[in-house]
Amino acid sequence: MTKKYYLGIDQGTTGTTAILFDENWTLAARGYKEITQIYPRAGWVEHDAIEVWESIMSATRQAMLLVGAMPKEITCIGLDHEGETVVLWDKLTGVPVYNAIVWQDRRTARHADELSEKYADLVRNNTGLIIDSYFSATKIQWILDNVPEAGELMKKGQLLAGNMDAWLIWKMTHGKVHITDASTASRTMLFNIHKGEWDQDILDLLHIDRSVMPTICDSAMIYGYSDAMDFMGIRAPISGVMVDQQAALFGQNCITSGSVKTTYGTGCFMLMNTGDKPIYSPNGILTTVAWQLNGKCSYALDGGIYISGAATQWLRDGLKIIKSAAETEAMARQAGDNGGVYFVPSFTGLAAPYWDSYARGMMIGITGGTTQEHIVRATLESTAYQVKDVLDVMEKDSGVPITTMRCDGGAVANQFLMQFQSDILGIPLEIPEITDTTALGAAYMAAMGIGEFSSPEEVSHFWKISRYYEPRMNKDQRDSLLFNWHRAVERSQHWIL
Ligand code: ADP
Repeated sequence: MTKKYYLGIDQGTTGTTAILFDENWTLAARGYKEITQIYPRAGWVEHDAIEVWESIMSATRQAMLLVGAMPKEITCIGLDHEGETVVLWDKLTGVPVYNAIVWQDRRTARHADELSEKYADLVRNNTGLIIDSYFSATKIQWILDNVPEAGELMKKGQLLAGNMDAWLIWKMTHGKVHITDASTASRTMLFNIHKGEWDQDILDLLHIDRSVMPTICDSAMIYGYSDAMDFMGIRAPISGVMVDQQAALFGQNCITSGSVKTTYGTGCFMLMNTGDKPIYSPNGILTTVAWQLNGKCSYALDGGIYISGAATQWLRDGLKIIKSAAETEAMARQAGDNGGVYFVPSFTGLAAPYWDSYARGMMIGITGGTTQEHIVRATLESTAYQVKDVLDVMEKDSGVPITTMRCDGGAVANQFLMQFQSDILGIPLEIPEITDTTALGAAYMAAMGIGEFSSPEEVSHFWKISRYYEPRMNKDQRDSLLFNWHRAVERSQHWIL
């Protein structure tokens, strides 16, 4: 009997996950492929765009093999991706002109500061964003300025640019389709959120030719079909595209104004749905498009933390004091408390609400009694404190009290972290049954794109809770931990001269 699967591809920073959901939206199979992190210099982070493309196929193939899925059983494809990361490629040869520059990369920090002196208001008013090297715009400009081939190809009209979605869909469709969705566009610092199109003033300012940019589309619609020859025999509609955090918001069923989700991955990202009106934050929280359906945008407030799981990876690969991320839970419990150690993991600067590109990582409070367990615990705790800082500001700016938070991402498996998070926030946390909410959100969008759901509300009754955490810590203890955390953050700031 022929089965029917929805394919959700989550192209994350650490790796690509491909998930097949069956007709009842139960997770049938998951494939995963890690992506190499390339660090050419301090503060620079790159991905090999071809490797990322291959990881999509490898993860999808794995998932299909697990359940013996046939190519024709893939009903539709939804893709979410690592957001601000950019790829520029030659449209005739399909060869990238440079590695993908990853969202974490800070090489354009100084240039972003220079732009900020003159153009902060223009960019803020037109895009809802604060000028920062985090977004795609200055990364695209860097490649155009530093890779001679890129400039030459642009002049000849032979260059294409985009975020990972644009690149991967172009590859999947054998170079036929060059699109992005409004949620992705809103992360580029080139998208005019009022007009819903590329902002000509900012494109001109950065000398980016409009012709290299993808067409901006709804988050759900049929963009094109995967090419069977190029994509493992699958010829299916590609019908959902979103940035990973927005996909998680959708996959967490945060479809009403005031609902919040936090994803604990390489970075840590919280999004608060603010409905059909963009809310501007005076405190440096970003205004972003959540999704665009039938030409109408839903908006969100977005607070990102650059380094969360990445700090755990550093314990594993840099410090080598753990063998796997999973070990951190037992070690943190074994420590009993943080032993007075605070770790500000600002490896590449601090995001909201601090916005300091010149902060660098710092551990403070170390004594002769400090153990590996304390360091591990301080690492996990640092995520919870950073989330608290962002949530406080979101609450203040939106004027909407946050009463619960829905969580997902790799690190929600860590029950110590989740309990500590609930303690520090003083509100309950909800963990869904399917924690791969990014791939789920992308697959839901794809199903909307082919008309299987007519509205987000129709999707919502599939959302199920699996775990619930309630705060147990008393206020004095919480206040004291937060007081020390903020002292530590202050000391890590403005470090790079
Ligand atoms: P991304 O989508 O950014 O690649 P994932 O959602 O796949 O991230 O999450 C992976 C991250 O979660 C890794 O950085 C890893 O260190 C962290 N992680 C995974 N399991 C645990 C755990 N049990 N405890 C703490 N951190 C974990």
